[in-house]
Amino acid sequence: MRIGIDIDDTICCTSEIVKDRLEKYAIKEHMDPLDIMNNEELKSAFFSIYLEDIYSNVEIKKNASEVLKRLKSKGNEIYLITARSNYFVKTVKNNFEIIERWMKEHNIEIDGIVASAYGEEKADVCKRYNIDLMIDDDPYNYQKIISSGIKCVLFDDKEKYELKDNYVSNWLELEKYIERNR
Ligand SMILES: [Mg+2]
Repeated sequence: MRIGIDIDDTICCTSEIVKDRLEKYAIKEHMDPLDIMNNEELKSAFFSIYLEDIYSNVEIKKNASEVLKRLKSKGNEIYLITARSNYFVKTVKNNFEIIERWMKEHNIEIDGIVASAYGEEKADVCKRYNIDLMIDDDPYNYQKIISSGIKCVLFDDKEKYELKDNYVSNWLELEKYIERNR
């Protein structure tokens, strides 16, 4: 099976580290974190400073490493399909290197990385790569991928969304879902 997996908030705890760094930055700058996030210029200034740190030091989700290893050892192909882009901030132009280094640190072997893919573009990438099943935490991506005829599971470990059909709340559940739908 060719499995496509989103990175941020699916494999790793991106929201948590963003929140942590944003709070530190806000204190330093004597600003409110919400005001920073609601202003494109301030937000971009924050990410220009912290994005490399965020991508390099983000924590992996519980059981993700073990499950990915087992999926690989059973012959599945794993493709990371992410919206991370080299054009998001001027300071981070080496997204592939950062992702590869991070995967290595967590002993995860993958078959490919596709960046700058969001929404319809993500659905197109899934088609081009003949992905059998995509896993993503973003309901917008989920809808786009499903409507293009590709199977998708919504990864929702914070019970944020109403969707209760193709949804899993952790990596062990995801592993069982893949076993059932292979
Ligand atoms: Mg995501």
